[in-house]
Amino acid sequence: ARTWTPNELGALDHGLREDDLALRDTTRNFLTERVRPHLPGWYTDGAAPVRELAQEFGRLGVLGMHLTGYGCAGASPTAYGLVCAEIEAADSGLRSLVSVQGSLSMQAIHSFGSEEQKQEWLPQMAAGEAIGCFGLTEPDHGSDPAGMRTRARREGSDWVLDGTKMWISNGSVASVAVVWAQTEDGIRGFVVPTDTPGFSAPEIGGKLSLRASVTSELVLEGVRLPESAVLPGVVGLKGPLSCLTEARFGIIFGAMGAARDSLETAISYADSRVQFDRPIAGFQLTQAKLADLTADYVTGMLLALHLARLKEAGTLAPAQVSLGKLNNVRRALAIARECRSVLGANGISADYSPLRHAANLESVLTYEGTTEMHTLVVGQALTGHAAFR
Ligand code: FAD
Repeated sequence: ARTWTPNELGALDHGLREDDLALRDTTRNFLTERVRPHLPGWYTDGAAPVRELAQEFGRLGVLGMHLTGYGCAGASPTAYGLVCAEIEAADSGLRSLVSVQGSLSMQAIHSFGSEEQKQEWLPQMAAGEAIGCFGLTEPDHGSDPAGMRTRARREGSDWVLDGTKMWISNGSVASVAVVWAQTEDGIRGFVVPTDTPGFSAPEIGGKLSLRASVTSELVLEGVRLPESAVLPGVVGLKGPLSCLTEARFGIIFGAMGAARDSLETAISYADSRVQFDRPIAGFQLTQAKLADLTADYVTGMLLALHLARLKEAGTLAPAQVSLGKLNNVRRALAIARECRSVLGANGISADYSPLRHAANLESVLTYEGTTEMHTLVVGQALTGHAAFR
């Protein structure tokens, strides 16, 4: 009898546009040739060549690919989602690099920046020549960023920023930081070149998750910026929150990429591993795992593709994005963990991906709004009652 991949069994390509699939396939080929062989080493060493990778992703055209103009590809939400899934099938850390660059930093400048800010930063960010980071979280303000302590005050026509941001992806390798700070008028975004005196970005060490991604503290000590550094287009938390909604959309697909890679690894391992004189793929308990996990994976991908169609129709609401992130990241983590068990002892080796994916997905479960926060968003959407505080 023929064997099917999880994607074939779910007929996940059905109805997708040729050009969206072509972008996905180009990304997959690039990752297979240039990235996958190095992943175990980058992960165990905690040292991926992030600057070179950004340039390669830039040449591939995936940085800010959903944006239009300024050197960006103007790709469809579906294409963007499929590309995120491919990149995260390699490693969530690389998808984080691409999400923070395109959906957070570039998105903030594209949506709220002045023409001058867009012209200066977006083309070099799309090319991967300049890496961006997005500083919202602080040591004492994570899920509740409204209380942030980073302050921007006026001195003449200048702005002066003081404060600390924490857990900032790409921080130490960034040329530009989009930093959110309290002002007299409310929270505002600032475009901060990272060579500005008073700015530093020490890397956070000792991570057990997302080891192929750079995560940093941002320290701002009297960082003096011209008036033109403020993002003119938005005041208040809706600025950063709208960027986060964009990035979460990519994560809904991305997490399922990590799930798919875990599943494909487990299926292929089960076929080759022989115990009790037969491949472990022939045991019913193994098949029950693979069947259940494939059902979960296919359902998660169908939800992602459905949300992409809503996004293309312009009707996708933030609560629907929360539903997708809540469902798919949690499912992906459960899939990666269970796939690890199919590999027995080999499952704890860096030579196989499922445990690396599971460890990475612990970060994905927390960043861009924790599982608990998205549960509360969905709870509020269903009941009308806000249970945040
Ligand atoms: P807390 O807010 O302290 O939460 C701790 C626990 O309490 C969580 O389980 C949370 O869900 C729960 N909790 C909090 N409030 C409630 C409530 N009202 N009801 C029920 N439960 C609650 N941030 C950026 O700004 N930019 C980045 O680039 C970035 N990259 C990151 C990369 C990594 C690898 C990681 C791990 C984090 C990154 N973050 C980034 C930070 C991330 O967004 C925050 O960690 C996240 O928002 C949660 O904040 P916290 O860690 O302070 O947890």
